[in-house]
Amino acid sequence: MNRPLDEMAAGLDLGLNWHNRFAALGDAFSTRLQPTPLPSPHWVGTSPAVADLLGLDRQWLASPAALDAFTGNLAIAGTQPLASVYSGHQFGHWAGQLGDGRAILLGEVDTASGPQEVQLKGAGLTPYSRMGDGRAVLRSSIREFLCSEAMHALGIPTSRALCVTGSPGPVRREEIETAAVVTRVAPSFIRFGHFEHFSHHGLHDELRVLADFVIVRYYPACRDATGNPYAALLEAVSARTAEMVAQWQAVGFCHGVMNTDNMSILGLTIDYGPFQFLDAFNPGHICNHSDTGGRYAYNRQPNIAYWNLFALGQALLPLMDDQQQALDALEPYKALMPAALQRRMNAKLGLAQVQAGDAELTESLMKLLAADAVDFTIFWRRLSRAVGGAIEPVRDLFLQREAFDAWALRWHERLHAQPGFDADATQAQMLRTNPHVVLRNHLGEVAIQRARQGDFSEVARLQNALEHPFEEVAGQDDLAAFPPEWARQIEISCSS
Ligand code: AMP
Ligand code: MG
Repeated sequence: MNRPLDEMAAGLDLGLNWHNRFAALGDAFSTRLQPTPLPSPHWVGTSPAVADLLGLDRQWLASPAALDAFTGNLAIAGTQPLASVYSGHQFGHWAGQLGDGRAILLGEVDTASGPQEVQLKGAGLTPYSRMGDGRAVLRSSIREFLCSEAMHALGIPTSRALCVTGSPGPVRREEIETAAVVTRVAPSFIRFGHFEHFSHHGLHDELRVLADFVIVRYYPACRDATGNPYAALLEAVSARTAEMVAQWQAVGFCHGVMNTDNMSILGLTIDYGPFQFLDAFNPGHICNHSDTGGRYAYNRQPNIAYWNLFALGQALLPLMDDQQQALDALEPYKALMPAALQRRMNAKLGLAQVQAGDAELTESLMKLLAADAVDFTIFWRRLSRAVGGAIEPVRDLFLQREAFDAWALRWHERLHAQPGFDADATQAQMLRTNPHVVLRNHLGEVAIQRARQGDFSEVARLQNALEHPFEEVAGQDDLAAFPPEWARQIEISCSS
C-alpha cells in the first residue's frame, strides 16, 4: 500500500466536512475507538444514491481506498469514531446495558438533506459487545443493505445503506460464516434505549442533555411548545412512530425485533434483522424464528410500538412534572396510528378520502385475505388493475370467490361513488401505492447464496429492482412472482 504519509497519519480525506456532534456530548454517552480491520476486503454492494446523498463521488466509491475506508481498515480524516451506550427492553424485559456492540459511528456529514450520521456496522469489538464478537455476517449485511434501500424507495422512513463490504475473515455463528460491514446512514441513530439508559441509572443531567440535544437538532418545535418540552418530544416521537408503523402494516412489513433499543427516536426503521415482507397474508405471522411467543407478530406491531413509547415515556419522567404529563403525551398515538393506517389502506384501495364504513370495508377484506392466505403484495397489485376492469386475476387469488365477489361489489360501489371518479387516474395512483416488487425472504436468500459463491450480480439486480418498486421492468417477472414452495422453510432468527 503506497499512500502519502500525511494521509496515513491524519486518515483518508473523503472530501466531506465531518462534524462530531454526538462525540461532543461527552464521555458519558460513548467511548471513542477505531474500527478493527478485516482481511482482504471486497465489494458486495454499493448505493450510488446514498453516495449522492452524502456528497461522495460515485466514481470514488468504487475505489480501493473507499473499500478500505468502509471496511474500517483505514482511518478517515475528520472523524472521531465512537460506540455509544444505551440500554433497553428486549422481548418485554429489562435487558440492562446494551450499546453499540458492533456499530461504530464515524461522525456526521452535513448534506443538502440535512445532517447524516455514518456508521460502520460489524466493524469490530466495542466496550458494549458483551458476549458478541463485534462482527456481522454476510447474509444479514446483505439483507440490511437491500432492505434499507427498498424501504426508502417505498417512501418508508428508514436508515439508508451506502455499501456493504465482505471479507473472508471467519465469523462463528451456528456455523462458520464470513464477515461483512454495512455502512449505514441516518440523521441520527439515537434510540429509545439511549434515554432508558440514563434514566435507569438515575443520571438525570445526562438524560436532560440528551433530550435537549434531540429537541434542538430534530424537534425544534418542542422547545417552543407550551407546557413541558419533554412531554412535547414524547408526543412528537409518538406521532412519527405512528406514521412509520402504519406504513409497515400497509406494505406488509414485519420488523421482527421491536425491542426498545431498536426504536429510533426519529421514527425511522432501523436495525434490520429477521424482518420479512409478508408472502401469504397471515395477520399473526411471526417472522423471527427466535420470537417463540410471537410478541413481534405482524398484527402486534402497532401495540408493541405503543408499549415501547410507554417505556420511552417512563424514561423521560424525571424531566416531566408528573406522570400524567407523559400519559397525556402518549394518548394521541391511540387515535393517530389507526387513522394513519386507514389513510394508507384507503390509498391502497384507490379511495381518496376516509369516510365512515371504510374501516369495516378494509377489515372484511383483511379477513378474506387471511382466510385464503392470499399473497399480500400480488393481491394489491392485481387489485390496482381491477379498477380498469381486470377483476378475474384478483378473483383467481381466492378460494371463496363468492365472498370476494360480495366484497368487490362494495368496493366498486364505494370507488365509483367518489365525486369526479376517474378510473385511469385511480389505477395509476394505486400502481404508485401498491408495490410490484418487495424484498421477499426468498429473493434475499437467492442473492445471498450467489454472494456466498462470490457472485454479487444478484444483489445488484435485486437492489436495482427494489429501488423502483412500482415499476414493472421486462425480464424481472421472477422478482414479482409468487414465492416458491421452499420459501416457507426459510428460518430467519436473531443470529446475525
Ligand atoms: P440487535 O438485536 O441486533 O439489535 O442487538 C442487540 C444488542 O446486541 C445490541 O447492543 C448490539 O450491538 C449487540 N450485538 C448484536 N450482535 C452483536 C455482535 N455480534 N457483537 C457484539 N454485539 C452484538
Ligand atoms: Mg439493535
